[in-house]
Amino acid sequence: MLRRKVRGYDSFRCIAGDCPQTCCAGWLIEIDDEALEGYQKETSAYGETLRARIDWEEKVFRQDADARCAFLRQDGLCDMYCHLGEDSLCLTCTSYPRHTEEFENVREYSLAISCPAVAEQLLATTQPLSWETWEDDEIEEPYEEFHGILYEKLVVMRESMIAIMQDRRIPFAIRCHTMLRKVNAMQEALDEGRWEACLLDAKAAEDAKEGVRAFASLEDMHVLFRNLYALEPLSYMWRERLLAAEHLLYETDQETYTHLQQEFETSQPDLFVKMEQIVVYFIFAYFCGAVYDEYVYALAQEAVVNAYLIRELWLAKWLEQDKTITIKDMAEIAYRYSRELEHSEENLECMEEMMDGQILV
Ligand code: SF4
Repeated sequence: MLRRKVRGYDSFRCIAGDCPQTCCAGWLIEIDDEALEGYQKETSAYGETLRARIDWEEKVFRQDADARCAFLRQDGLCDMYCHLGEDSLCLTCTSYPRHTEEFENVREYSLAISCPAVAEQLLATTQPLSWETWEDDEIEEPYEEFHGILYEKLVVMRESMIAIMQDRRIPFAIRCHTMLRKVNAMQEALDEGRWEACLLDAKAAEDAKEGVRAFASLEDMHVLFRNLYALEPLSYMWRERLLAAEHLLYETDQETYTHLQQEFETSQPDLFVKMEQIVVYFIFAYFCGAVYDEYVYALAQEAVVNAYLIRELWLAKWLEQDKTITIKDMAEIAYRYSRELEHSEENLECMEEMMDGQILV
């Protein structure tokens, strides 16, 4: 088994009671069978309380009227953890925000930026996102209908995409455009059934000389922003936040919009490093999933569009706060965005479909 693990995976520590948006609020937590069995057999005095807080039919923890987990105390700590210790937690609670992607004989481990601590860690560091890779003796049964050769090509392509995105000698907008042009050439080869040549086609695609025009255009960015309304809102006030940002950003003219973008960029020296980290995060987590549907371009463009839309939300926050924004504000926007998108299969699919229908290069 080949394994890849993002840097910082093992050193991640939950900030528990200090977390501004605990993972136990807003999401239904599914309980694995092994944990359920343990809860059923719990013999301590806490056992009855524990069992009463579980929806046995749905196999989830019950929630209160504010969609907070029944075990989440007002001080932000987990009541079950406090009574029964860490070993009592179910698989979801033990593993989050650790995320695993599975391919035939490959496991990839990353940290989800829907967790505030992960988002802040990612945005506060200027060190490029990186991974370690190693092999062990575990071997699994071959997957049915797994296109192993295509997967290998996707891994090579992903490395090349990340290398382009992390080449900080090149302006960020041009890196994005170059990367998208190459993935677009790969997509065309795949669409024509020439998947053996897809890497060569991608390599041959010329480097961009300028950024993607749509990302500098008020009208085009407004269209991309409005894609967010097509996603099912998952958290309280998310849609209201989008409406407020839309009003601040797009009810102006192109000249003012361009000027604000430039002023914001100047005020945030590491802005493009942060955007690069977001693009690379999404590429690493999702790009190789194209082995199942071959929509490589949609996934690459989605990674870039996510970074630009988060940039738009940062800009709106900066405007709202008299042209100031902290790293905590930026992390909050990133983790809220990720929660809306990444924790819903429907929303992820919807975004991928929209990107497939709005090719920008
Ligand atoms: S969201 Fe992250 S920091 Fe917050 S409680 Fe969950 S794991 Fe801990």
